[in-house]
Amino acid sequence: MDRYLISKRKTGETIQVESRESESDSDVPRKLQKAEPSSSKAKTKPARQYDDSYIEFGFINNDGLPQCVLCSVCLSKDSMKPSNLKRHLKTNHPSFSDKPREFFERKQDELSKQKAVVKKAATVMPNILRASYLVSLRIARAKKPHTIGETLILPCAVDMAETVLGAEAAKKLKTIPLSNNTVSRRISDLSQDIKDQLYSRLRNCPCFALQTDESTDVSGLAQLLTYVRYPSQGRIHEDMLFCRSLPTNTTG
Ligand SMILES: [Zn+2]
Repeated sequence: MDRYLISKRKTGETIQVESRESESDSDVPRKLQKAEPSSSKAKTKPARQYDDSYIEFGFINNDGLPQCVLCSVCLSKDSMKPSNLKRHLKTNHPSFSDKPREFFERKQDELSKQKAVVKKAATVMPNILRASYLVSLRIARAKKPHTIGETLILPCAVDMAETVLGAEAAKKLKTIPLSNNTVSRRISDLSQDIKDQLYSRLRNCPCFALQTDESTDVSGLAQLLTYVRYPSQGRIHEDMLFCRSLPTNTTG
């Protein structure tokens, strides 16, 4: 064993600490010896797996990464060794460093409960988000000001739900994000998506035709309108490509 430690001391700095650290767990040094014959290959060594005894240092296994049960921080895969875990505990949570295993197991339960709550909140979100986008789409299609979501649509929906379905349903509807800025952002997202879809169709079709027209708007500003006609999914589609204001007049 002594010879082993000395040879390690020459080659690697962490391994030596590690083997000293883990002398109390009888099987770990043996594993180390097996994984590493006399010529050390610290860098190619396979990553350590989580060991149940690491809960004594306040760490649980989070998808192969050691996670602290006290501050929920995930350390890197390379830190999956007793020495690093112990160091985190001693430097970041000195007051907990002498706590028994049961204390950390209790903390582990608390953390997993917290995770479940977060997961639940995250799974509700897609529906709420979808509703927010659908309402924004209707507002845009109806060419109404985007503030209408906050000032009229949501209060109306809440009133209807409260009267017909009950307070619980109304409470759920109130969580749909329809504030002024949100709706404006959603409409921008939707129009960007339409643009992206049109561009990708044009890129993939063999040919397309352009048609331009000019018009003058109410403020006397010349507008250039460009339409595009292209084959897609067995039909001819016609869409507006863009509308830009011209710096000159329409005859120019
Ligand atoms: Zn911590």
